[in-house]
Amino acid sequence: MAAVLVYTVLFVIYLKYFDNEKVWLSNRPLRDVFHVLTYRERYHQLLESSVRDHLTGTLDRSQYEVRSPQILARNLKEGREVSLLVIDIDHFKRVNDRHGHQVGDQALKIVGRLLKENLRSDDHLFRVGGEEFVILSERLPAEAAVSMAERLRRSIVRFSKVYLPETVTVSIGVSSAPADGTSIDDLFRVADRRLYDAKGAGRDRVIGPAAAA
Ligand code: GH3
Ligand code: MG
Ligand code: MG
Repeated sequence: MAAVLVYTVLFVIYLKYFDNEKVWLSNRPLRDVFHVLTYRERYHQLLESSVRDHLTGTLDRSQYEVRSPQILARNLKEGREVSLLVIDIDHFKRVNDRHGHQVGDQALKIVGRLLKENLRSDDHLFRVGGEEFVILSERLPAEAAVSMAERLRRSIVRFSKVYLPETVTVSIGVSSAPADGTSIDDLFRVADRRLYDAKGAGRDRVIGPAAAA
């Protein structure tokens, strides 16, 4: 109880004398300090959830556009390799048509969850389109990125066999900086072309740089 009192007094002092938004308290009774705390926390929760895709809980396309060029630039400046994976669910329209939109949503959730659970701390996952995800991996050379993509592809097949009415597969295109380009747009274009090649070659596969194959 004493700790709560001390904390409250310190917080009021902070709000009154140090916080830029002290207008909050200047004309308000002391009890409003709890409202300030609650609203701030809610505000931050709201900000956090507004940048996440509601279905899968992954960062959305707007966050990809803002964050990925910064991540790439920072790593290139420090001489580190960065890899980009474009992951697209195969024949997803058919999954929806055969089993309904709800099962399609369920498949998206499973794929999103598996991708999230397999991330290293240097990986960043975004849902950039309907059934398309990007992983941007810091400090990951092409060969290791292709291995990671293979592991992801296999685990999606394995889990979908258990949790979905039909096996869902993904195709993945991989590119790496600086070898394939030094801008996010270049990296995405190269990975997307390889993804397209993976679709043409029969789907359910990973294509990266020839040297990493
Ligand atoms: P491909 O193997 O060539 O990628 O074929 P595809 O059917 O996966 O690709 P296509 O682009 O033809 O279809 C994508 C489908 O994804 C169409 C759209 O209805 C579905 N889709 C996009 N977003 C969602 C979503 O949030 N929920 C569900 N259930 N379906 C979605
Ligand atoms: Mg698809
Ligand atoms: Mg697609």
